Amino acid sequence: MVLRLEWKKMTMLALTAALILPWAGAGLQKARSEACPADAVLTQECELKLIALTFDDGPRRSTTTELLDGLAQRGVRATFFLIGEQVPGNEDLLRRMDEEGHQIGIHTYDHVMLTGLNAADFSAQVDRTRTVLKNALGHNDFLLRPPYGMVDDGVKRRAGCPIILWSVDPEDWDDKNTDRIVEHVVSRAKDGDIILLHDIYPTSVEAALRIVDALHQKGFYFLTVDELAAQRRLSLKAGSTYLNFYP
Ligand SMILES: [Zn+2]
Repeated sequence: MVLRLEWKKMTMLALTAALILPWAGAGLQKARSEACPADAVLTQECELKLIALTFDDGPRRSTTTELLDGLAQRGVRATFFLIGEQVPGNEDLLRRMDEEGHQIGIHTYDHVMLTGLNAADFSAQVDRTRTVLKNALGHNDFLLRPPYGMVDDGVKRRAGCPIILWSVDPEDWDDKNTDRIVEHVVSRAKDGDIILLHDIYPTSVEAALRIVDALHQKGFYFLTVDELAAQRRLSLKAGSTYLNFYP
């Protein structure tokens, strides 16, 4: 019950923030001015499209810092699914994410598949990471992204929070080809997509920032997962899985 109330409260906060922030953000101004001439009648094509950038497997000091710098320059917020064992020594990076409006989630303690685990092993991956994040940040409202997107009934039952998958995956870990990653995402991006990237590769960080610039030109506005769900009037439920937030 406590958990449910926390989620409800958080969703209300996110809804309030999401309704206000997009219309005041510098990123939005840039997106609108480039997508639509100032004197254009606002048509469907000129309407803003909303999208969420998500990053797995961090934090990694060098690449995550570079990414945060680039996102800050562009006024863009994203969602980071973190590995618990990589948090010690990087707590300042987590606090920076928090302060700059990014959302933080759990990606297990040392990147294992969660399907088929017993309660104790699941807890050692998810609850342990939740505690690590809570100790670094002082709040406890983290989403879960299971490694490899692997979900079964046990994962849903034990998650204790919404489970966030994705709808656009350029497999940036594979060839680490920045041009290909950018093309894959930009050519497929739709209103409501959740994009999966990894902020542990310099090529993915470069691709992410180029994706932001290209999608700004096409009238997209970047939100965190919670903000995007709130814009779609969705109240995220613990144990439910979400692949996208299409209108
Ligand atoms: Zn991963």
